[in-house]
Amino acid sequence: MKVSRSFASVFIALNAATVVVVLVIVLQWPAQVIIPKEQPPAALEIRERIGLLAPDPDWSELEPYQDTITHDEFESALTSVYSAGDAWKAAVRISDTYADVDTQDGKGFRLRFAARQADKAPKRYWRGASELPSIKAGSDRPLQGMRIVIDPGHIGGKWAQKEERWYSIVKGTEVMEGTMTLQVAKLLKPQLEKLGATVFLTRETTEPVTNMRPADFEEAAANYLQSIGKDPQRNKRALEFERDKMFFRTQEIRTRAWLINDIFQPDLVLCLHFNAESWGNPRKPKFVDRNHLHLIVNGTYSLSEMRLHDQCFDMMQRILQKTHSEETAASTVVAKSMAEATGLPAFRYGGSNAQPAGDSEYVWARNLLANRLYDCPTVFLEPYVMNNEEVHDRIRIGDYEGKRPINGRMLKSIFREYADGVAEGVRAYYADQRAGN
Ligand SMILES: [Zn+2]
Repeated sequence: MKVSRSFASVFIALNAATVVVVLVIVLQWPAQVIIPKEQPPAALEIRERIGLLAPDPDWSELEPYQDTITHDEFESALTSVYSAGDAWKAAVRISDTYADVDTQDGKGFRLRFAARQADKAPKRYWRGASELPSIKAGSDRPLQGMRIVIDPGHIGGKWAQKEERWYSIVKGTEVMEGTMTLQVAKLLKPQLEKLGATVFLTRETTEPVTNMRPADFEEAAANYLQSIGKDPQRNKRALEFERDKMFFRTQEIRTRAWLINDIFQPDLVLCLHFNAESWGNPRKPKFVDRNHLHLIVNGTYSLSEMRLHDQCFDMMQRILQKTHSEETAASTVVAKSMAEATGLPAFRYGGSNAQPAGDSEYVWARNLLANRLYDCPTVFLEPYVMNNEEVHDRIRIGDYEGKRPINGRMLKSIFREYADGVAEGVRAYYADQRAGN
């Protein structure tokens, strides 16, 4: 298990007696995970061409990937998966034998291409389906020996309203995405374990994973507003909005990424979400007729995202670890199973922030913080429109065993339908791939 530097520094700061207590807790993992409270100070400063709260990328970490990817492999991943149109040209220049990438020190990073395709996997903590030990065809434990993380999206509970993943139309029924994703995660975990996997959840409660709180971002939010020419004293609402955004949308995900990449190091992450369409006032939400499903793989970086050194670095890491092909292959099989389980049609993006990925009409490449920061293949699910009336009714009924009549159809509880669809997709993907190893 690789232990991060920030994690180690927590230990050094503690006296011997406390270390014993901490070790006891660590040994009981994953029930109790210790999260370092402080951000490196640089990450709270506003820096040119570095995203908010992102660490300055250490480009030397890409050195082990010299001569591991061919010109054609690199160019194809960059231009057809990761870049929205020609956006890549803002940060990368490709020649026959190397690529130059802009860096924050102005010196640039040069990646030398391999002359021919490598026959072994590049340096990475995760294993693709083809690298896992073979299993017998028809085995009832096709996930044997695998590590899987379930990441229930958002926080839910008392945080749901502030994180804007909450609405209520009937007194006594609150629709809270973060509470629902946790409910699905808890149904899914034992199913994956039964199939042989070791399963970790990024959270087990409706509380944040990070130890930081919105108030910790007051100064950073004020600095940010100043950097875009706004006086934070005269824009209190904007200040609160930016502060909360840094906490919910950025720091919380960064802490989960740290857990995943430095502690759990899984072969696969399953990010669970429920989709929604604009509902307006959360106390008088609009219902929509539409209900749909899609899955997201990482890709389609815009021009402004490509220009950010931290995002470009994350993208380079994903290209060099060859994450995309495994991520898309797994997502495609899970999409098929989820489409069968839910009967939902595919959602289609209209804008330029997403493009189709692979062969499934359900799978789209889009650059989200979670699927960019999680280094391993990430299956990111967006089934059900929470403010569709039938979905609302099913959420209101809650979880139950077996099937019940809903609008004239016999249906499982929405939570079990979701969990069963994911479990079957993951089972099918690895059973098929590993049988041939
Ligand atoms: Zn969500």
